[in-house]
Amino acid sequence: MALQIHVLDYGDIELETSFLVLGHECGRTRRVPVYGFLITGGAYPIVVDTGYRDNAIMESLGMRGLQFHDNMIENQLAKHGLKMGDIRYVLHTHLHIDHAGKDDLFPMNTTVVLNRRELEFSVSGIMYPQYPKPDILHLVERVYEDDAMRFLDLELTGAEEIMPGVWCEPAGAHTEGSMNVIVETAEGLACICGDVVYDFNDQIVKHVRVNNYMEPQVTGNHSGSKRAEKAAFKKLMNNYTFVLPTHDKGAKVEHGQVVGRTGMVVPGPLTETLPKREWFPM
Ligand SMILES: [Zn+2]
Repeated sequence: MALQIHVLDYGDIELETSFLVLGHECGRTRRVPVYGFLITGGAYPIVVDTGYRDNAIMESLGMRGLQFHDNMIENQLAKHGLKMGDIRYVLHTHLHIDHAGKDDLFPMNTTVVLNRRELEFSVSGIMYPQYPKPDILHLVERVYEDDAMRFLDLELTGAEEIMPGVWCEPAGAHTEGSMNVIVETAEGLACICGDVVYDFNDQIVKHVRVNNYMEPQVTGNHSGSKRAEKAAFKKLMNNYTFVLPTHDKGAKVEHGQVVGRTGMVVPGPLTETLPKREWFPM
């Protein structure tokens, strides 16, 4: 049975547009979704990212959280007939405030998988307010509990397999320990890329405030060099048929160009299984 990727809708956040795309529409508020992903059809179900803890915690970044009852992770999993304890692995693209807020709801025998460099980076203070204390302290608790944590060392190993058809690779962008999750589907390779991409339309299709042909724009929230951020973006566009970010609709990619977007409504409820054939051509 082929692997399938389902979108988990953890609610929306409101933030300033230039946070998403460098220097773009400063002062203007934009509402974006926060997605996680559920991978089924393999040996066991896997969740990628867990969303933000609650609406109040987003205020620490000056952002507004819009998380409602339906967005609770247990309710999102229930739509697929799953409970928290059914999940074998929770993978993290990275540990920012909007991606690792519900790990403490999973039992300790659900193993959290992250790139070791990301946990190191999260406590380094470099991007301090984006790594909230309760989320990170819980992950440290897991380090001391048998099998509750699995570390990857992707900068040194290259890709590491999680189960047949699912592997992780270093993302090389957004945060120092960010990782991509690659899934083999019947329709091609899909890459869950976390926040390496914030907004396909502004960053690559229209590439606002950029002059050169096929040159991606960087986000307003990156921790590496601009060149490294652009290279990580290009790597996604060159290697995968489906690129699935956390705050934007997924994209279908051919020959380095976005050729379609998923039928998701943003913001709004998401029900479809990805990848699927009903792509909306650009
Ligand atoms: Zn994010």
